[in-house]
Amino acid sequence: MSSKDGAANNVGIVSTIPERCKRCYTCVRDCPAKAIKVEGGQARVMPERCIACGNCVKVCAQQAKLIQEDTDRVFSMLSSGEKVFACLAPSFPAAFDGFSPGQLVAAVRRLGFAGIWEVAFGAELVSRAYAKLFESARPSGRRLIATPCPAITAFVEMHMPELGGCLAPIVSPMVATARAIRRRHGPDVRTVFIGPCVAKKNELKDPALEGELDAAITFAELMRMFQRAGISPPSLPDEDPDGPSAWLGKAFAISGGLLKNAGLSADILANDVLVAEGKDRILAVLDALVERQSAASFFDLLFCEGCINGPKMPGRLSLFARKEKLVEFIRRRMESVSPEQAGQDLKEFEDLDLSRKFLRKPVKLRMPAEEEIASALKTMKKFRFEDQLNCGACGYQTCREKAVAVCQGLAEASMCLPYLVEELEQACRNLEASHRELAATQDRLIQTERLASMGQLSAGIAHEINNPLGTILLYSHMLIKQIRDDEAKKSDLMTIASEAKRCKDIVRGLLDFARQSRISKSPTEVRGVLDEVAKIVETKAGVAGVRVRMEVEDGMPQVLLDGAQIRQALVNLVDNAIDACAAKRGEVLVSARMSRGGGALEIRVSDNGTGIPKKHLSKLFTPFFTTKEMGKGTGLGLAIVYGIVKMHSGDISVESEEGRGTTFILSLPAGDSALSGAVPGPPPRAGAIRSSGDKGGRGDG
Ligand code: ADP
Repeated sequence: MSSKDGAANNVGIVSTIPERCKRCYTCVRDCPAKAIKVEGGQARVMPERCIACGNCVKVCAQQAKLIQEDTDRVFSMLSSGEKVFACLAPSFPAAFDGFSPGQLVAAVRRLGFAGIWEVAFGAELVSRAYAKLFESARPSGRRLIATPCPAITAFVEMHMPELGGCLAPIVSPMVATARAIRRRHGPDVRTVFIGPCVAKKNELKDPALEGELDAAITFAELMRMFQRAGISPPSLPDEDPDGPSAWLGKAFAISGGLLKNAGLSADILANDVLVAEGKDRILAVLDALVERQSAASFFDLLFCEGCINGPKMPGRLSLFARKEKLVEFIRRRMESVSPEQAGQDLKEFEDLDLSRKFLRKPVKLRMPAEEEIASALKTMKKFRFEDQLNCGACGYQTCREKAVAVCQGLAEASMCLPYLVEELEQACRNLEASHRELAATQDRLIQTERLASMGQLSAGIAHEINNPLGTILLYSHMLIKQIRDDEAKKSDLMTIASEAKRCKDIVRGLLDFARQSRISKSPTEVRGVLDEVAKIVETKAGVAGVRVRMEVEDGMPQVLLDGAQIRQALVNLVDNAIDACAAKRGEVLVSARMSRGGGALEIRVSDNGTGIPKKHLSKLFTPFFTTKEMGKGTGLGLAIVYGIVKMHSGDISVESEEGRGTTFILSLPAGDSALSGAVPGPPPRAGAIRSSGDKGGRGDG
């Protein structure tokens, strides 16, 4: 039998409800078969590895594990007219705390079952078969694992196939009971197992047991059937089960019950019988069996600390209270059934065939190579040994174990709590940074919008007053020419003309700021532009005692610029810088370089002057903002710079510290336009040379 066939056997007995699964990985931690795979944060049960022990169902606090529901099938069997027999698990007297075992039997009968048999009788038959087998095997020292628990048989068949030969080839009490029912009532009757066990659903699908039973439902499903059928067990009288009377087989559901029944002893001084229950102990015993570390030859093993602690035992009774309840029930039944009657029943089925076969269904996982494990550890951010915290939060005991599971495709690197916390912290840091950037962008946007609307307004006004100003200038010059030099009015007219010209300059500045002027780009030598700037500011710098230096990166290519306008912008910036450091006879540095990717020309104008107070920074590019005294500043210099930079689709920013100095940074896109230095371009157009306090747009032209 291939592992693929094994996979088909238990498809969907336990599955995950995605909406309820909350990444706690408890089920991964508790799955003895490593049958839970984490995919997209969801713990998915892999049918091909699942032994249906129901452990994950038990430990899931979110109740996110779903068990295959068979109530509909049983209802349709019951209504089909066929004879359907119920096989009640030995644990049934301990299962419910709201009504008696007799009332439960009465309620099951009301569902329409043709007969109710206690699986305890099958257990009695099976125990005898075990006793016989053990006696015959004892001389040879053959090791035998008792096999009433389908979770254990499935575990051995799939995950420890090397122990397959140890499985006692005897059917479970459930199958024994079903065979006994058919012996007495004919081969066509139907049988349904009712108990606390999820693995029984899996046992039914075992090809080696095909057709033995028709359905297996849990006590929880039974309660749902009562509800749907409107049956209330507490309102019913006590009734007895049908079928042969079970004697000590009733103790089967308690750990060690099999031994008691089979007359075998688990004497602490005798080493040949070993009783163990509970997942962890069972796994340890099976390991010991593989390693041949145990001298015992008979192993009575139950996955769930006895069936009375099965995954689907309803009610809130403790394990001990259940045990007491069951023992009390057994005691009373033993009083009501005579040993003779029990003996007769057993005799009837003495020759019943209880044999079975086991199949090999190996699903062993590939062990990854050391390099694969190391690389999985790296993806989990475990670079050094100290990074391996082995906290167990992911469901695996160690980080290495988890890395192996990642390599085997069972786990995701992200299901690591420290890893997630670190990722989260990084995400928070990124979020904070983008939040800061967003806030800064928003500020810039507000500023840009403000400047844009000011630009529109300015452009409107400038257009309106440009013509009247031109007329005033024209007529004042005509009048100046008409009157003699010694006439008193001449100097008044000269004042009118010069003030009108000053107004025209302001208007031009406004138009530049509002980007109403056109730019004309051509391949430009940046060094040439800077040299021009140096010449223009030379006199002013000399008078102020300020040193102005120009620095151009070696190998600077030609860049597509409107050289005249950029020169104008730089003159404005250097002008301000000289003003700012005149008092301490400081220094101004203009440096140009290409950005790292070559996509932009970056020009910095730095000074070690007064610096700019923080409260002024947001107003710098607003037209008419000036801190200079009347007649010295128009407040248009930076507005014009801004307009020119924007016309070049560039950006301007400022860094300043009061008392230490200021740096304006111009970033002008070069794109494909950055040209190799080999092609000399035309020199930048000459622009107006401005004197101090006479900042504005280009010269009169
Ligand atoms: P103006 O120079 O006519 O005042 P600007 O628009 O060129 O107009 O400058 C606006 C204001 O920005 C200046 O008045 C000054 O307060 C400030 N400013 C500009 N550049 C600097 C600088 N390098 N250092 C200090 N303050 C500066």
